[in-house]
Amino acid sequence: MKKDWLLLGIICMTALLMTGCDAVHVILSSEPGQAAELVGAGAYTAGQEVTVSAMPEPGWEFVGWTQGGQVVAETTEYTFIVQRKTKLTANLRPLEYAVSAFAQGQGNFLYSQEPARHGREYTITAVPERGYRFVCWTEKGEVVSTEAEYTFTAAGDRDLTAMFLPEDYKVDLEIDEGGQVVETWSLQPAAQVTLEAIPREGYEFFGWVDQQTQQEVAAQEVFSFICEGRRSLLARFRKELVSADGGSLTAVVGKQTTIGEYAPADLVELPSHLSVKKRRVRSQVADALEIMAQAAQADGVQLNVDSGYRSYSTQHDLFYRYAKRDGVLAAERYSARPGQSEHQLGTVVDFGGTNRDYSDAFADTSQGKWLLANAYKFGFALSYPKGCEGITGYKYEPWHYRFIGVDLALAWKESGLTLIEFLQMKNQAD
Ligand SMILES: [Zn+2]
Repeated sequence: MKKDWLLLGIICMTALLMTGCDAVHVILSSEPGQAAELVGAGAYTAGQEVTVSAMPEPGWEFVGWTQGGQVVAETTEYTFIVQRKTKLTANLRPLEYAVSAFAQGQGNFLYSQEPARHGREYTITAVPERGYRFVCWTEKGEVVSTEAEYTFTAAGDRDLTAMFLPEDYKVDLEIDEGGQVVETWSLQPAAQVTLEAIPREGYEFFGWVDQQTQQEVAAQEVFSFICEGRRSLLARFRKELVSADGGSLTAVVGKQTTIGEYAPADLVELPSHLSVKKRRVRSQVADALEIMAQAAQADGVQLNVDSGYRSYSTQHDLFYRYAKRDGVLAAERYSARPGQSEHQLGTVVDFGGTNRDYSDAFADTSQGKWLLANAYKFGFALSYPKGCEGITGYKYEPWHYRFIGVDLALAWKESGLTLIEFLQMKNQAD
């Protein structure tokens, strides 16, 4: 009971004090409502200095404080001496951003009619003039969109550049399986395109080929050039190469393997009765050739080795000479890249010395016919038979034989497989 009386006393005294000292209220509101956080509302003593402030919510901009329709302050913080009940309104307007667009090349823009209000979507569309095409939107040198109709959420001023290029300034891209390409353009000081090849897991980039010239124009993943017309490029990817041991008679040597810069240590020069050009092969291959040549001789056929061991660097020069002459894709059908040639093993020979060397017609020569029927008995396998390009990666080469040893050559013949399939199987089994 006593406690309640005491509480009531305190309340009465406080009320008396407030009214007695002319308590006045400061009432704050914002226009529109919820557009700002307001501080400073409450009861004050008449004659007291009061500071109120308005913190605009995101997307709103403070305009000024008004009282009864009259502007009393243009700053977010307003300090005054309060005398009587005061109603203040913080006025705000939506924050709007400037969107400026500039054209590089010939083109125009369609803006959305709505102003770029904070937090709202805004659309600007690039419209190329006749004979031009839209490439991309950039801002501060970065590509922000490759869509002509660009929609973004307004959160600041924008300074956009739309790039338009003559319609025939274009890169037609063909992209191999195993990766993708990102294309970006810049127009300063000239129309420059940058292509970046990105291989998929398990694949590697394998060069840019110009479709017109059929030449490999760059080997690096990032390729930049000044575009002055239409250009057709092929971005090549291949499965990551598997290393093979060049010293092994059964090494799998093909488009998906590499023996690196392997060089055999036991090369010997063939005598002129086996090779007019005195080509080199590994010693056991030279021995096998001697025996085979004697057997051929007995059948009235003279064997002659026209090409034998070729080093990594020789193969490099050879491949790029062919690539320059016939185009890189065509060259790959008949010539190996360095590190991928069976000739680098020192166990491979090309027979020849006829007037039909290195042609399908070699198969009809006495050497060609005899080798096809007999070479396997002496340890030699025909690497690239007719009609097997899809498997071997190479056109028919009736002159190209690889020594794998007599037992294996007999097993290979028995298998009916191409040599590379047979060796793959053999290597998996071992
Ligand atoms: Zn060959």
